[in-house]
Amino acid sequence: MAPQITGRVKPTKIKKQVRGQKRKRDDVDVEKLQEAVEQLDTKTKYESFNDLPLSEPTKAGLKSAAYSTLTDIQSKAIPLALKGSDILGAAKTGSGKTLAFLIPVLENLYRAQCTGPDAGLGAMIITPTRELAIQIFEVMRKVGGKGHLFAAGLVIGGKSLREEQDALTRMNIVVCTPGRILQHLSQTALFNVDNLRMLVLDEADRILDMGFQKDVDAIVDYLPTERQTMLFSATQTKRVSDLARLSLKEPEYVSVHEAAQSATPKTLQQNYVITPLPEKLDALWSFIQSAKKSKILVFLSSGKQVRFVYEAFRQMQPGIPLIHLHGRQKQTARLEITQKFSNAKYSCLFATDVVARGLDFPAVDWVVQVDCPEDADTYIHRVGRTARYERDGRAVIFLDPSEEEGMLTRLEQKKVPVEKINIRTNKKQSIKDQLQNMCFKDPQLKYLGQKAFASYVRSLHIQKDKEVFKLEKYPLEEFAASLGLPGAPRIKFLKADPEEIKRKKNASRQAAVSESEEEDDDEDEEADKTKNKKNGVRTKYDRMFERKNQDILADHYAKMVRHDDEKDDIDLNRLDGEQEADDDLFDVKRVIPADEGVPNFDISAKDAADAQAAGLKAVAIPGAKDPIILDSKRREKLLKSKKKLLKLKDKGSKIIYDDECNAHEIYELEDEADFRARGEAEAQRRKFLEEEAERVKMADISDKALAKEKKKAKREKKKERERAEAAGEDGVQLEGEEDGFENFKRDAAGLGYSDEEDSEVEEKPSKKQKKWFQEDGKRKDLHEEKEIETLGDLEAEAAKLLGS
Ligand code: ADP
Ligand code: MG
Repeated sequence: MAPQITGRVKPTKIKKQVRGQKRKRDDVDVEKLQEAVEQLDTKTKYESFNDLPLSEPTKAGLKSAAYSTLTDIQSKAIPLALKGSDILGAAKTGSGKTLAFLIPVLENLYRAQCTGPDAGLGAMIITPTRELAIQIFEVMRKVGGKGHLFAAGLVIGGKSLREEQDALTRMNIVVCTPGRILQHLSQTALFNVDNLRMLVLDEADRILDMGFQKDVDAIVDYLPTERQTMLFSATQTKRVSDLARLSLKEPEYVSVHEAAQSATPKTLQQNYVITPLPEKLDALWSFIQSAKKSKILVFLSSGKQVRFVYEAFRQMQPGIPLIHLHGRQKQTARLEITQKFSNAKYSCLFATDVVARGLDFPAVDWVVQVDCPEDADTYIHRVGRTARYERDGRAVIFLDPSEEEGMLTRLEQKKVPVEKINIRTNKKQSIKDQLQNMCFKDPQLKYLGQKAFASYVRSLHIQKDKEVFKLEKYPLEEFAASLGLPGAPRIKFLKADPEEIKRKKNASRQAAVSESEEEDDDEDEEADKTKNKKNGVRTKYDRMFERKNQDILADHYAKMVRHDDEKDDIDLNRLDGEQEADDDLFDVKRVIPADEGVPNFDISAKDAADAQAAGLKAVAIPGAKDPIILDSKRREKLLKSKKKLLKLKDKGSKIIYDDECNAHEIYELEDEADFRARGEAEAQRRKFLEEEAERVKMADISDKALAKEKKKAKREKKKERERAEAAGEDGVQLEGEEDGFENFKRDAAGLGYSDEEDSEVEEKPSKKQKKWFQEDGKRKDLHEEKEIETLGDLEAEAAKLLGS
């Protein structure tokens, strides 16, 4: 157990002395703690935080946040994690997984004395969304802000790379999203992760799935292999391949609810209502009307759906505050909205799956899933936003009749108990006419409706589970009418691998985030379009599609049509098999065959001679066996295009030399008799192919390894160079130890986030920020009640971890 620490030295003493004494106390503290942790019995079921060998600052933090008894997952995972084991933690939503990893992070780094700028980054906590990162950061601030000396920060994008870079180099603990941290790992020279001891993946299964796969693999590549790795989720991955990717060492499976009857909290009541797609909005409206005195979270399948439903319902004045959230909003707006919803007593939030995982909104009464989730895991996470930590909650999902059987089977497989209910007929209200009226009068709303329709249909199309989502079964015409649209917009899209789309979507989001330094990445559709156009020439078709207020969805065109050679088209208007003459409408980019400009060039030498005899010009092209006949002006022009000429040249051939320096083609025909003497032609062919395939495979492996090595070396070299430059530039902070520490504290205090590009911020912390450190304990507590409004506020608050 930790030794009792006597009262603090008064701040009237000079700082140097204070710090020296504190360090001595810490040393004793750490040794005793280490001993106690080693003696910790991982079989015992600890009930109170006081029974665990925790440092004084952590104990103080837990006490001030009023956490006293451990939840199941905490009591199983924390002792193992304190001892340094790799952990695979699975426990239901709302069961306290955050503390199960945060306490070991704080404690293990504390015992390793991983504090201050010299210690470098000790722990990295990765989460799938910015909101979740912010939430984890806040919990860490709460339990770690009572005397720990770590510098902690958030790296989630939404502000300039440069600002983050400066802060990152001083952090001991970082909470981050995968895309952004990877960007820093590859670009920030002074960001050193060589001392990293702990890696935590919250919502691990999500982070390891296709959407983030590449990023996570690349991140792990940078990290030292000697580290503690912890994975937490309500729906945990058990795939061996995933665990291998993270090089987990004999991980402890801590699964507290595996034997439970249901995968969802006991206090959660779950129901489903059969609602044909065209009646979903009626049902939602009726539901909201009957639950005005509650806090409701409504899930829809896409941001466009969210916007339309929000706008439409808002105009209809539902009598309950409405808010909406999706991934394409600005970061500041997103933060504001989550806070608003957290603080609200009665409110209805329309959202996409960005809020499906991990978020701990207090006291949500209802989770309503208007659109069916992609799988049972997503269902579990969505409903997990209510009934958290022993509270009650209710969830209802609207299922189209075609989805009922498939989805219920999926839920049953995952041990999710849902019961069917009906909406009372006298409570049912139809809003179809009203919506039609509104869309008729308001082209903007109609436009949103068209986009919502398209994105919904697209989401159905890319769903992986075809036993649940059968596109042809949905009454789409009626659905369009139910949104108030005069007819179903024509949508045509090409078949694509849903995983691929998911991956691309994540990639483009992250790109948007990284581009957001100067420009705003979000709801700005014009920007979206120009971004799409950056890579190519705008054709008149593109301009045509960008025109608004037509039935064709301009913006969607670019996103729906994959510009590749797949020709596996689906046209919604032709699902019944009817053919249309103008079905090329969305298929413009590929109508011209690539080699249309070079017709009839396969002429023989004889033809050439004939042509010459006929008085036409023939031109010899280097690299081509036969001359080219120029029988028209157009063909003459061709000669000026290098690219087109390439097509006229003969294919190159590779030559190898034997020991006598004679040139041979790679494959030469041998004497037929010899060949036959060696056996069956077919058998020989097969054997040859096998051998060659093996040879190519081996060559591929060694090529890849070589390329990887080169890339790594290059990266290292670049970082080394930049490091040297940076060291020369600002001499790094540390002159004497004490001064360095002072600098560190001051700089960390200035981690504030400013919306403008302001590189001065770090050097000159604002007066307000400086003040926090000059205030005494009492004032600090007062400050704690100040509302956090921006990311900057939050991060600046983290500086408190340093000095309190
Ligand atoms: P999970 O990650 O498992 O979904 P969280 O870590 O978000 O759950 O915790 C859910 C809620 O439970 C939070 O509001 C948190 O404050 C609360 N909580 C966690 N641990 C405890 C505890 N030991 N005592 C009381 N409340 C707790
Ligand atoms: Mg969680």
